[in-house]
Amino acid sequence: MTDLAPATTAIVENLARVRARIGEAAIKAGRKPDEVTLVAVSKTKPLEAVQAALAAGQTVFGENRVQEAASKFPGLRADHRFSLHIIGGLQTNKARDAVRIADVIESLDRPRLADAIAAAIAKEGRTPSLLVEVNVGDEAQKSGIGRADADGFIADCKGRFGASLIGLMCVPPAGEDPRPHFEWLADRAAKHGLGVVSMGMSADFETAIACGATWVRVGSAIFGSR
Ligand SMILES: *Cc1c(COP(=O)(O)O)cnc(C)c1O
Repeated sequence: MTDLAPATTAIVENLARVRARIGEAAIKAGRKPDEVTLVAVSKTKPLEAVQAALAAGQTVFGENRVQEAASKFPGLRADHRFSLHIIGGLQTNKARDAVRIADVIESLDRPRLADAIAAAIAKEGRTPSLLVEVNVGDEAQKSGIGRADADGFIADCKGRFGASLIGLMCVPPAGEDPRPHFEWLADRAAKHGLGVVSMGMSADFETAIACGATWVRVGSAIFGSR
């Protein structure tokens, strides 16, 4: 009770500021503000931070670890309507838990994970929406399907998951101009007829919106640094 109130106030103010910036960036790009969905990334932040955001009307959340998501979100379902996205690299042995708790998995990035997710969907009888994550900078340490393999993998996933495959996601290389990467991803999504383009984080979401992002994943600008 003691130190929660100031943190809550900051989250509410930060959310309003980020939403306003999203709206301005959309209008500047000749788009409508409601074409861009804010995914609030609450990784490493406590349940209270999520509750503060929920109270401020935020309904879409992202977590990059399944276990952490499972510790915070399922208990909130009784009282709140929200959408939970898994946005981080997913191990195949976590696929079943992810399918059980998530509304969206944004990090489908390899055939073996597609196999594990398909098996989990069959067992759980529930199908989250799926995004293919592309490693747009072809960085060794990053998750995501490589650029060269992206088209084939996206086509395979479309065949396999049908309308549940709704878009593409990326995290461009740090310290580089993200714009060419964002443009490439938006172009790939359009070529495959996928409507969702998830790109842009606290440092670059306005640029991502200018390049066609429909979802931006923003953590520290809302919840503070980690
Ligand atoms: C942490 C994370 C974000 C949010 O990053 P911020 O810089 O805190 O906004 C977005 N996407 C992914 C995949 C992340 O892991």
